[in-house]
Amino acid sequence: MKVNSADIVISAASQKQYPKAPIPEIALAGRSNVGKSSFINKMIQRKNLARTSSKPGKTQTLNFYIINDLFHFVDVPGYGYAKVSKTERAKWGKMMEEYFAEREQLRATALIIDVRHKPSEDDRVMYDYLKHFDVPVMVIATKLDKIKKGQRAKQLKLVRETLEIEDEDALIPFSSETGEGKDVAWKTMLSHLQL
Ligand code: GDP
Repeated sequence: MKVNSADIVISAASQKQYPKAPIPEIALAGRSNVGKSSFINKMIQRKNLARTSSKPGKTQTLNFYIINDLFHFVDVPGYGYAKVSKTERAKWGKMMEEYFAEREQLRATALIIDVRHKPSEDDRVMYDYLKHFDVPVMVIATKLDKIKKGQRAKQLKLVRETLEIEDEDALIPFSSETGEGKDVAWKTMLSHLQL
């Protein structure tokens, strides 16, 4: 996939602000600091469109990006940061529910996890949450460059078994450092977007 244009459309704090254009969307979710911004930036060949290592606890928004004037990427705020207050957590939950329960344009979610570790309880809850809304999920196992080649199969099996990934969902090994997995990730996204 050649990305010719990628721009932020809006940082939406509520449903009213979502773009109205009836174009298909892929949402991107993952725990804070997992490598979600790096994944987005690698996919769209931008150094810093999605902000990397943004501080948790700041205003939480859904960031809509328009890619090649064809579809949206929707960057969902990271989860699993321990120091978030109850009020913030509740706000986050409401924002997720508003989006995932009702967004007609949503075609799939890329759930970013770290291939080096067993998926956390938060990762499992997120996968189940998305499946509960019947959203196709592509699990992106990132930071692949950080493990030895000989460990890959074992780690991917651990991820698949811990999340109990359903047969129709892809598990894609990925590295934002080397670009490995990028073509497969695009192919999967484009098939969900029906482009
Ligand atoms: P976010 O909070 O989920 O958006 O995470 P970031 O994209 O900011 O990444 C967190 C840290 O992990 C940064 O220091 C990145 O450079 C690093 N990182 C992200 N993806 C990779 C990867 O595939 N390989 C390596 N080696 N480092 C990565």
